[in-house]
Amino acid sequence: MQHANSQMNNSVIVIGGGISGLLTAYLLSKQNIDVTVLEKDSAVGGTMKTVPDNGWLIETGPNSALETTPLIGEIISSLGIESQRIYANEQSSKRYIVKNGTLLPVPMDPLSFIRTKLWSAGGKLRLLKEPFIGRGNSEETIAQFVERRLGKEFLDYAINPFVAGVYAGNPETLSVKHAFPKLYALEEKYGGLIKGMIGSRRERKARKEIAKDRAKLFSFHDGMQSLPVNISRALGTAIINESTVESVIPMKVGNRPIYTVTFIQNGERLKLEAPVVVLSSPADATASIIEKIDPETASVLRSIYYPPVAEVFLGFADKQINRNLDGFGFLVPAVEHKNILGTIWSSSLFPNRAPRDHIALTTFVGGSRQPELTEFDDDEILKIVLDDLQALMQIEGKPVYQKIARWKRAIPQYNLGYGKILDKITRFEDNFQGTFVASNYRGGIAVGDCFMNSDKTCKKIVDYLNRDHS
Ligand SMILES: Cc1cc2nc3c(=O)[nH]c(=O)nc-3n(C[C@H](O)[C@H](O)[C@H](O)COP(=O)(O)OP(=O)(O)OC[C@H]3O[C@@H](n4cnc5c(N)ncnc54)[C@H](O)[C@@H]3O)c2cc1C
Repeated sequence: MQHANSQMNNSVIVIGGGISGLLTAYLLSKQNIDVTVLEKDSAVGGTMKTVPDNGWLIETGPNSALETTPLIGEIISSLGIESQRIYANEQSSKRYIVKNGTLLPVPMDPLSFIRTKLWSAGGKLRLLKEPFIGRGNSEETIAQFVERRLGKEFLDYAINPFVAGVYAGNPETLSVKHAFPKLYALEEKYGGLIKGMIGSRRERKARKEIAKDRAKLFSFHDGMQSLPVNISRALGTAIINESTVESVIPMKVGNRPIYTVTFIQNGERLKLEAPVVVLSSPADATASIIEKIDPETASVLRSIYYPPVAEVFLGFADKQINRNLDGFGFLVPAVEHKNILGTIWSSSLFPNRAPRDHIALTTFVGGSRQPELTEFDDDEILKIVLDDLQALMQIEGKPVYQKIARWKRAIPQYNLGYGKILDKITRFEDNFQGTFVASNYRGGIAVGDCFMNSDKTCKKIVDYLNRDHS
C-alpha cells in the first residue's frame, strides 16, 4: 500500500461529489475551511446529470427542483449563475392524474374541487370529516395515515400517484413520519391537516421556508447538472475525481480523532488524513466504507431500500401529439394498472429541452411499484412506454428521438421503522466524533432538502472545529 500525500492534512474530507457532498464542501470553503472532495466518478453531480444531444436536453436524474428555501437562491447568486437559472412555464402548476384511462387535472381551487371527477361526491364529503379525526396511536405508513384521515379514494387518486412521482415509492411501506415529516407534523402539532395547513403558514414564514405547493420550479438553461458543474468550478482543485473511497479509520490524537481516508485512484491506493470526514456517498457505498469500524451501522445502512428506476426520454414532432400539453405532466395511480409511473412534459416546462417544433417527454418506469420492469431490455421498455403514452396522450407514430437512463438504485425509501436507522446514524456520529453524514438518505430526498441538510451539516462542522477539544 502506498502512503501518498501524507503532507495533505486537510481539515475536512467529503466523500461523494453528488449535490449533498458538493454543497457541504462549497459552504465550508466559503468559511475558509480547507476541504477536499473525493468523488468516485469522472464527473461530479451523482444522480444530477444532464446529457445534451443534437438540440435535445436530457435529464437522466432530477428534471427540476422546487425553490423551497431562500438558501437555493443565495447559493445560485454566490456562484454567479443567476442568469443561467430558468423557472418553469407558468402552466407548470397544472398537473394531471390518470383516472379510468383519462387525464384529469388536479383541482387548484374550491370550484374545480367540487367539479372534479377525480373523486366521487362521497369521496369529497369524506374530506369534510378530516378536522374531526383524532391522532394515530402508532407509526403509520403514508397509506394508513391518508386512508385514516382522508379516505381511500384520496389515497388512490391523490397520494398514491404523488408518492410514485416523488419517491418512485410505495405508500404501503413509506413511513409518514419520516418520508413526509411536514404532513405528519400537521397532525402532531395541530391535530389535523386542514387546521395544520392554516396554522403552519405562520411558522414556515418565520423559518423562511416556502411551502412545496407555492415554491417555484427551477432548472438551468443547460439543465440541472449546471449546479454541480458550477459548484465544482468554484471548488477547483479541492475536487479529486475518479477516487473511490475504501475506508475511513480513526486514530486517536489528543482529544480529537484524526481520520485516515483510504481511496483508490488510477489503480493506486492512496491516503488522506483529516479531523473531519463527511460521508455523502449513497448508503450502500457508505456501508462498505465504515464496515471495518462499525459493521453494525454498515449493516443498517445496507438495509435501506433504493428501488430501480428507468427514465425514458422521448422526442416527437409537434404534429404527432394531438393534445394540449398545458402543464407539468401526469401521474398514474397504481389502481389504473399501467406500466408507467408518470410522464413529465419536459418541453412544456422548459422549451429548450427539445429542438424547434418538437416535444420532449420524460417517462418514469419501475420504482417500488414495478421494479421488475426496469430489467426489460431497451426495446421492451420503449414498447411498454409507447403503448401507455399512445393510450393516454393521443400520440401518433414512433418517437423521432429516444434515450433511456437506468438507475439500479435510484431513491432511498424512508420506510416504516426508518427512525431506527436515523438513530443508528446519529449514534455513529456520536461514537466517531468528527464524522458527519450528509446524504439524501437522511433529512429528505428532494434537491431543496439536500440544500438545507448541507447547510445544517456545514454549521455543525464549523461548531465542531471551533469547539475546545483540549
Ligand atoms: C431518477 C431520479 C429523479 C429524481 N428527480 C428529482 C426531482 O425531479 N426533483 C428533486 O428535487 N429530486 C429528484 N431526485 C432526487 C435527487 O436528485 C437526489 O436525492 C439528490 O440528487 C441526491 O444527491 P446526493 O448527493 O445525496 O446523492 P448522489 O447524487 O447519489 O451522490 C452520491 C455521490 O457519491 C459518489 N460515490 C459513491 N461511492 C463512492 C465512494 N466509495 N467514494 C467516493 N465517492 C463515491 C457517487 O459517485 C455520487 O457522485 C431524483 C432522483 C432520481 C434518481
